[in-house]
Amino acid sequence: KAKEMSGNQFQLFFPDIENRAVEQIQLENDLFKALQHDWEFELYYQPKFNVRTNELIGMESLIRWNHPQLGTLSPAHFIPLAEETGLIIPLGEWVIRKACLQMKKWYEDGHKNLVISANLSPHQFSQKNLVPMVKEILIETGLPPFLLELELTENLIIHNTEQTLKTIGELKELGVQISIDDFGTGYSSLGYLKDFPVDTLKIDKSFIDDITTNSNNAAITKTIITLADSLHLNVIAEGVEEEEQAKFLADHGCHWIQGFYYSRPLQSKAFEHHFLKKFTQRGY
Ligand code: C2E
Ligand code: MG
Ligand code: MG
Ligand code: MG
Repeated sequence: KAKEMSGNQFQLFFPDIENRAVEQIQLENDLFKALQHDWEFELYYQPKFNVRTNELIGMESLIRWNHPQLGTLSPAHFIPLAEETGLIIPLGEWVIRKACLQMKKWYEDGHKNLVISANLSPHQFSQKNLVPMVKEILIETGLPPFLLELELTENLIIHNTEQTLKTIGELKELGVQISIDDFGTGYSSLGYLKDFPVDTLKIDKSFIDDITTNSNNAAITKTIITLADSLHLNVIAEGVEEEEQAKFLADHGCHWIQGFYYSRPLQSKAFEHHFLKKFTQRGY
């Protein structure tokens, strides 16, 4: 009987499109439900190091969703959906709170100089109560504000310049640090850099990938490092996977570094075990 129904034709000819739409709606439902509690989400932490001294300087928080049926989902699977549906607002708040709580705990354990970063997506950044929300979380968790860094992408910064400038200014007033993620990939003019009170440029992985073989990307990377130095900004390279890349960056004066060469993003216990344990055991 079902075969005679015209709706079935659609299924026959466009099974993929239909399935994908159903999957997205299901995932959206699941995301909404998961946000009613918080145990399905988890932050992983990827260490950042000083290139010269090899000292740990902090870590980036990266969200994972431990979906009850689908297993661990990476942000690419659900952040765009969260952005589209507005669920990024509660999800993003959860991320910032969790990151601050975790860093406060490590701070209490004696790690007083580590900066934790969290990513902000465009929708989150343009929400009206971002600044009061961040302020509230800092008060509630007791984390010193300068130990929180927010990573914004370049494209987010260049849109709606006036409002953006105001928001970044207010975040800086709270004492929070700001970095520009995926730097070099946006369509921006460099002019905005002198107006925005940012702290750090994060050189995008796409330049780092073939830094030792592609002279254009090597040149761009060197230019970004020089630019950061002349503007008195910090500079970090992301996506460093090989020793040669790390060496190139060290030789050319990049301050900080992050990537699989040093460590993948880790669950908090593993992060403690690999990067914080010795320090804590010594009882600092
Ligand atoms: P991102 O902020 O640029 O983060 C860097 C991404 O590169 C991470 O992927 C990280 O795991 C990966 N990565 C780091 N080092 C290496 C490396 O050496 N090699 C390779 N191949 N990859 C490396 P992840 O965790 O899948 O996150 C992807 C993106 O999702 C992030 O890019 C960020 O834009 C977004 N994201 C992650 N967590 C959050 C969050 O809590 N909130 C928001 N709004 N976005 C998030
Ligand atoms: Mg980031
Ligand atoms: Mg990045
Ligand atoms: Mg990136």
